[in-house]
Formats: sequence, structure tokens, C-alpha cells
Amino acid sequence: MSLSFCILASGSNGNCSVIWTEKATVLIDCGCSAKYITENLAALGIFPRNLTAAVITHAHADHISASGIGFLLKNNIPIYLHEDIFEDAFRKYGKKVEEYISMPFYENFKIDDIAVESFEVYHRDKNVSRTFGFTFSHEMNARQYKIGYVTDTGMICGKIIRNLINSNILVLESNYNRIMLNSSFRPYDNKKWVASSWGHLANEDAASAIAKIKMLSTGRDSLKYVFLAHISNHHNTHELALQTVKETLLSKGILGIRLFTAKRKQRCPVVSIR
Ligand SMILES: [Zn+2]
Repeated sequence: MSLSFCILASGSNGNCSVIWTEKATVLIDCGCSAKYITENLAALGIFPRNLTAAVITHAHADHISASGIGFLLKNNIPIYLHEDIFEDAFRKYGKKVEEYISMPFYENFKIDDIAVESFEVYHRDKNVSRTFGFTFSHEMNARQYKIGYVTDTGMICGKIIRNLINSNILVLESNYNRIMLNSSFRPYDNKKWVASSWGHLANEDAASAIAKIKMLSTGRDSLKYVFLAHISNHHNTHELALQTVKETLLSKGILGIRLFTAKRKQRCPVVSIR
């Protein structure tokens, strides 16, 4: 028995991760090209016919791309997405999404032996009306194991923290360094949105959320693996994101978390819980 997880790509060029157990294989987001997804899944020994479903966080093109939609449709993969996300995708891609095999989700649902809980996060603009975070839970030897997944949110509230408590594997965005964002060449309106409560998460905010989640977790092996995701190419570096989180954890005496930074165009190491 096992619960495995791999981030295929993370960032504004495309997001896609995969979770698998003996019974189910689930894609989270499909914002890369069909070619990239196919090749990277194949490297893990996963073929499109093995995919049970895809779960979509929101309708920005880096989370559901035209090529990604094509991949899901071509392979008849059921897509779990919220009704509002369907509307957003329909506005963007028009007829292409009419063929969607859409499974509207409400708060909780099950994909074979993976229990999925969804919760709303803080990320919206004129094209995207709602964004969701998820937890994926799987029972092994009478114990629940959990993956927490939040890649786009402008802020973290108590409800998000509560959802992520006791995750064994946590994926949280650590999008920008405040100084780099302020001095970046990006248009003022874009920078204002990124830094807003509806944009993305700063390194310091990701760091304090991880510390809080760890301190509130009671489960054995909680936050054993933490992936810092959606790291900006323009206003952050992997080193800064890691350093900020490491310093915060150290200042609170938190040890024993294996930290990774998720790359834009390179698969992360597979982590498996057995
Ligand atoms: Zn987004």
C-alpha cells in the first residue's frame, strides 16, 4: 500500500501534479502541454489510460491550458471542476470545453480510494471567479494519510490552515519576495494584484503558514515533505524562498521537515508514503 506524489511542473508557465495509489491516479491541474504531461507521466511509468481523473484548481491558463484540455479530452479523463470554474474555462476556450466530461464538485468527493476535500482560497481576477485548494486523503493500515495542496492564494486564513493541518505532504505556493516584486519591471497594476489578498503569496506569508500548520498538527509525520510551489521567475528565487522558510522554521524550533522547491520545467522527486 502506498500514496505517491510528484509535481511535474510548477509556475506561471504551467502547473501539473500527480497523485497515485494502487487504485487511483489523479492529475491536479493540467496547465502544461500535452507533450510535456505525457512524457513526464511516462517517466513515472504512468500512461494516459492509467489516469482515473483530473482535478482543477482554477481556470488560469497555467492551470488548465488549451493543450491540457486537449490531452484530457483525447484520453477521456473525467475532469472534476467547480461549476464556476467551468464557466471561466468556457469563457476562455469556448466550444473546446463543451465536450468536457465535467464532474461538478461541491465540498467533498471521492475518487476511488482517494478522498478529496475542496476549500476556497483567495485568488481571483477579471478572468477567474473562484479558486480552490484541496486535500487528498488515503487510508492505509487503518491510518489516514493526507496531501495538502494550495498553489494560488493571495492570503492564508484560519480556515485554510485548519484544512491543511496534519498533511503528511504539503504543497504551498511561495510566489514572491516583496523587495524583488516592488522593484520589478512589471506594470504597476499587475504588481498591485500579485501583492493583493487575491493575488499570490509572499515568501514570508508562506513561511509563517507552514510554521503555523506544523505547530497545530498533532499527527505523526505531519509535514514530513513540504514543496514550495509557484515560485515566480521575475520576483523570487528558489534560494530566497527556501531561506525565508528555513529561517522562520528554525526561529520557532521546528525541525525535521524536508523542504523542496518546485521547478518550472522539471519534475520534482517522487515522494511516497508506505
Ligand atoms: Zn492563477
